[in-house]
Amino acid sequence: MNTYTSEQLRAWDKRHVWHPFTQMQDWEKEEPIVITRGEGCWLIDSDGKRYLDGVASMWTNVHGHCRKELNEALKAQVDRLEHSTLLGLAGEQSAVLAHKLAEIAPPGLERVFYSDNGSTAMEVAVKMAYQFQVHQGRPERSRFITFKNAYHGDTLGAVSVGGIDIYHTTFRPLMFETIQAPATYCYRCELKCEGPAACGMHCLDALETLMAGHAAGCAGLVIEPLIQGAGGMIVQPPGFLKRVRELCDRYDLLMITDEVATGFGRTGRMFACEHEGVVPDIMAVSKGIAAGYLPIAATLTNERVYGAFLGEYAELKTFFHGHTFTGNPLACAVALKSLELFESDRLLERVQPKIARLAERLENMAMLPHVGDVRQCGMAAGIELVEDKGARRPYPWELKTGVRVCIDARRHGIFSRPLGNTVVVFPPLVISLDELDLLMDGLERSIRAVTGD
Ligand SMILES: *Cc1c(COP(=O)(O)O)cnc(C)c1O
Repeated sequence: MNTYTSEQLRAWDKRHVWHPFTQMQDWEKEEPIVITRGEGCWLIDSDGKRYLDGVASMWTNVHGHCRKELNEALKAQVDRLEHSTLLGLAGEQSAVLAHKLAEIAPPGLERVFYSDNGSTAMEVAVKMAYQFQVHQGRPERSRFITFKNAYHGDTLGAVSVGGIDIYHTTFRPLMFETIQAPATYCYRCELKCEGPAACGMHCLDALETLMAGHAAGCAGLVIEPLIQGAGGMIVQPPGFLKRVRELCDRYDLLMITDEVATGFGRTGRMFACEHEGVVPDIMAVSKGIAAGYLPIAATLTNERVYGAFLGEYAELKTFFHGHTFTGNPLACAVALKSLELFESDRLLERVQPKIARLAERLENMAMLPHVGDVRQCGMAAGIELVEDKGARRPYPWELKTGVRVCIDARRHGIFSRPLGNTVVVFPPLVISLDELDLLMDGLERSIRAVTGD
């Protein structure tokens, strides 16, 4: 297998691979790490050096790398069938997985539309919500209520309902308009609450005002439940999501929850919505669904939405959307085995002490002079670094403080990737307490080294 040298691999990568969200001029000057193997929570490079996977390979990994049972499920499926289409045919694995997803999803979400990634799952959600309104005889309901700082993916519809300026500004001329509500960013509250303790949830009042004014022209509301991931691990105040559900009901808006990052155990429950007993009308899942093995996504909805698309062929109520690799059997087989492991490993139970340990470690981290805020939701956390803690003044983004911390952490055998000046902690859910300590020790040392303390 390993017939190429590290030098060859680096050279070909630099010569040909255009990396996502990467300034390639910088990349070409670096000596990139080339990952060739994985083992549990560890990634191993072409020189044999090991790195703890602190971001679960872009928030997808659940049971560790090269987990025996998942590898076997994949190998068994590939010898039966690698792919057949859902256009005109049903599939064994996609049927079983849909049945299983309907069972574990919030009640009533029993209709499963497959696609390939988080962005497509959100495109599907947005188009489904709008076409639903058309079928209700309300084609004027074409807009969406969204949140500042939200992230729903990088395709144009997903970008349109997102709210991160640095990613989205360039593409504004290509995007559709939305009604944007304030973010629940307690540390930097636009509405001048004095932090989470004195939070009056004025953001909810602002949201309601927007709904009162615009709901008649809106199909639905789009939200990342409990935590805005890519926006910087911004955690909502408790009770917020439940109130959003109530407001959606009052203003007759479809509630679309994007559980792409939060789904499959990340928050300590199978889905984030469960923490507040919320049942959305449409739910998008992807990242953790196949435990980080293969790209697959699903958009789940209820009978009310699904039923609106039923009609005579000539009525053209069909949902005109689909992707080539929809319901891929290999990905579905791994996803099914992953759900079995959740049960046989009692994963949701066993992740609780790790959530508690992470909380302790973050509490200590918060004392560092350049840590402005720490935020946690289950096994997802953000550590926001600031130049001046008293004034909450951020480091100028050009200094790349977050990036420098993560580069430094490699010396301690840790791979992480920041969101601006927020250092992210998002390890595979199977991480051991010792490995979690190793991760937090390494990040702490690098934060001290880079922020000069
Ligand atoms: C990552 C992410 C997406 C986009 O998923 P891709 O698979 O990268 O297209 C959408 N929503 C949320 C909340 C995400 O974290």
